[in-house]
Amino acid sequence: MAKQEDKFKKVISHAKEYGFVFQSSEIYDGLSAVYDYAQNGVELKKNIREYWWKAMVQMNENIVGLDAAIFMHPKTWKASGHVDAFNDPLIDNKDSKKRYRADVLIEDYVAKYDTKIEKEVKKAAKRFGDSFDKEQFLATNPRVLQYKEKGNAILQRMGQSLEKEDLEDVKALIEELEIGCPLSGSKNWTEVKQFNLMFGTKLGASADTAMDLYLRPETAQGIFVNFLNVQKTGRMKIPFGIAQTGKAFRNEIVARQFIFRMREFEQMEMQFFVKPGTQKEWYEAWKVNRLKWHMSLGMGADNYRFHDHEKMAHYADAASDIEFKFPFGFKELEGIHSRTDFDLKAHESASGKKLQYFDHEENKNYVPYVVETSIGLDRMFLAVFSNSLQEEELENGTTRTVLKLPSVLAPYKAAIFPLVKKDGLPEVARKIMEELKWDFNVMYDEKDAVGRRYRRQDALGTPFCITVDHDTLKDDCVTIRHRDTMEQQRVKITELAAIIKEEVDARNWLQKM
Ligand code: ATP
Repeated sequence: MAKQEDKFKKVISHAKEYGFVFQSSEIYDGLSAVYDYAQNGVELKKNIREYWWKAMVQMNENIVGLDAAIFMHPKTWKASGHVDAFNDPLIDNKDSKKRYRADVLIEDYVAKYDTKIEKEVKKAAKRFGDSFDKEQFLATNPRVLQYKEKGNAILQRMGQSLEKEDLEDVKALIEELEIGCPLSGSKNWTEVKQFNLMFGTKLGASADTAMDLYLRPETAQGIFVNFLNVQKTGRMKIPFGIAQTGKAFRNEIVARQFIFRMREFEQMEMQFFVKPGTQKEWYEAWKVNRLKWHMSLGMGADNYRFHDHEKMAHYADAASDIEFKFPFGFKELEGIHSRTDFDLKAHESASGKKLQYFDHEENKNYVPYVVETSIGLDRMFLAVFSNSLQEEELENGTTRTVLKLPSVLAPYKAAIFPLVKKDGLPEVARKIMEELKWDFNVMYDEKDAVGRRYRRQDALGTPFCITVDHDTLKDDCVTIRHRDTMEQQRVKITELAAIIKEEVDARNWLQKM
């Protein structure tokens, strides 16, 4: 645990020190659970967004984009169920005065079984060596099965109680499991209460006519209310999707995990409209597709797992999370939900407008079913950033801090250095930079010894460093050094663009899907 906490602290301090993420309004002591993306962070975030957009919109003929406003008519949120049901169950500890999400306390308790299972796997792998079959072990080992069963029983009971709004039983469960306050250990809990997560604001200048609005808690509703506009103007045929990225706002009860849980965050969502009755197939297909997208980044299959939901949101008939192994354990990164026709029907009845599709093949109108994929851009940022941050022991006994970002996402693709700040080398380096910057985000650096410049770029995750030296003036060749292998190669200046492109081009990454 201590090791995990250490790693997480390093992630947060590296993000600050190297200009990726700052606390919002830091000079005023910060605003809790709100963050700003700095000069390098904004590039990484943009690249993740583009990688998603390319895979979801550009590569799929039947998916189009949208950029709906954050403000929406307040009836939207009544119809969608958010006014009545977008709640988290909160519980206070009477001694420490700390507030928690009751469901998260229970989920964290169950996560301890996962840790125990991981330990059993490690032990067995050591014992059996090469002949170890992890799948079989997980499916048959009695101790593992017992842990799984216990964990599932707890989650099932919690899911059912939350579904029935039986908050007393949620509290009873916390007491039966003897869950203590993570900070103080105290088991002196208040009742569990529901807490609505939407932020309210007002539209209009005068106090009597101002309209109460909400800041959107998800981007999805902007897609639903535009469903017919897009379908008609784009002449879209079912099945088709509408994708959008944008800010969402939630007054989270507990927000202490850096950019994992923020009060203002960005989502990348896609609603896929399908014929009723086919939603199950599409739900399964999107689960597979989204996992492949994650895998294409090469961050290791062991870092992902599906978590199928026991407790469904009010709109869903099936739901699964893609969980990622963050520095604080496996947690939700993306949700895939089969949302039925709940949203479109709700908006039909609240607005009095038909939100139906005329199916020429079937010769009839129907309200489509929806399969949603929804990923938090900030969580994806944290997944990529924390997984990439590594400390490496070098052969000469020193260590280096290197951010091994998938190079398609790296803020800068190359840094260009003159070996020294004289003899015409800066001019050549600048000329190379002027040429490369049309196609790639590149950086010029002439300060300090080259070794230090390499370290700086390693810490930013820049895949290539290009050094211009005195020989360059004679042979038009430069040294190109790769971030991960630290190997150096002498190449022609004219070859640089192709070498960089080969490594960072989204095509080469997405083709792994
Ligand atoms: P959680 O259970 O962690 O609160 P959720 O199930 O409420 O998440 P969804 O409503 O399914 O989340 O939202 C879709 C995605 O949006 C999540 O998978 C997550 O990546 C992201 N997300 C949700 N809430 C936040 C938040 N407060 N900060 C950052 N990202 C968030």
